[in-house]
Amino acid sequence: MHIADVIARDGMTASFEFFPPKTDEAWDAFAASVHEFESLHPSFVSVTYGAGGSTRDRTDALVAKLQSSGSLRPVPHLTCVGHTEAEIDGILAGYAARGVSNILALRGDAPRGASGGEPGHFRHAADLVRAVRSFNEAGRHPHVRGFGIGVAGFPEGHPETPNTLVQMDHLRAKVAAGADFIITQLFFDNDAFFDWRDRCTLAGITVPVIAGLMPITSIAGLKRMAELAAGTRFPASLLRSIKRCEDSPEDVANVGIHWATEQARDLMDRGVAGIHFYTLNRSDATRRIYRTLGLQGRVGAQPAIR
Ligand SMILES: Cc1cc2nc3c(=O)[nH]c(=O)nc-3n(C[C@H](O)[C@H](O)[C@H](O)COP(=O)(O)OP(=O)(O)OC[C@H]3O[C@@H](n4cnc5c(N)ncnc54)[C@H](O)[C@@H]3O)c2cc1C
Repeated sequence: MHIADVIARDGMTASFEFFPPKTDEAWDAFAASVHEFESLHPSFVSVTYGAGGSTRDRTDALVAKLQSSGSLRPVPHLTCVGHTEAEIDGILAGYAARGVSNILALRGDAPRGASGGEPGHFRHAADLVRAVRSFNEAGRHPHVRGFGIGVAGFPEGHPETPNTLVQMDHLRAKVAAGADFIITQLFFDNDAFFDWRDRCTLAGITVPVIAGLMPITSIAGLKRMAELAAGTRFPASLLRSIKRCEDSPEDVANVGIHWATEQARDLMDRGVAGIHFYTLNRSDATRRIYRTLGLQGRVGAQPAIR
């Protein structure tokens, strides 16, 4: 089922991001937490992809496992940077054969020092969206409408395009190319998200926007987020609370999870189309948020607010 259809049916989605574990031990640990994630009945789960194909086999293996488990609907991320047209086609054909219904189409970032692969073919995510759409239109997916196509959105801006009007043009180009939902970069300021969502609407972007949330669970994690999600603003009141208890890892996690819980509650109250939890494969923080919000297995039962 397409994610946009799930949102239309259920009013909103709650979903989780996983990454493919690197070692046998990490696979075992992850297998244990998958059961905990299953018990939360997410609308879908997404699986990251190493830009340039560095996790191609592991992403594929995890998507296959999740797909065969039947209880979690996997949405593979696919980045186009460094890939040839034939490689992308082969990856899409593999997912189609397995009955995967949605793809998150991304550009990815070329590893430092890499040439970026076949220059000129897939330069931006919109090029990949067009490739997925051509695949769909050629009738090569078992579902008559082919893959549902998601793309990334950046409420607080993407570092390569400081001009926010131009950046909105680039997002609109991805939707015009065929994307039917957007998942955002993580953010900590809901007003920034809603303001950006309003600007999307003003720009004529009307596909559902799923908000990306990542609870802070440690100071080291916060620093990693600042690096990976460059440009994300950490509100002073959040930093003040963390600073108060920075000598206690447990209290830092409590503050971070409480902040994410309040963000999720406010997003739902204000009619968000979905919340995507960046889980880092650990279920504790997400389970706490679910419990506090009374969400366990009840996402489709959201009273409509819009
Ligand atoms: C939800 C989500 C999931 C992600 N998952 C992964 C993952 O699994 N693996 C991974 O490696 N990375 C992942 N990323 C990171 C992402 O690949 C990077 O942030 C990347 O820099 C941007 O990807 P994009 O798909 O938005 O690219 P694009 O939409 O191509 O945008 C990239 C930059 O190019 C600019 N741009 C777009 N079109 C044009 C144009 N025509 N002319 C000039 N400039 C243009 C944009 O404004 C932007 O600054 C994810 C990000 C998000 C938000």
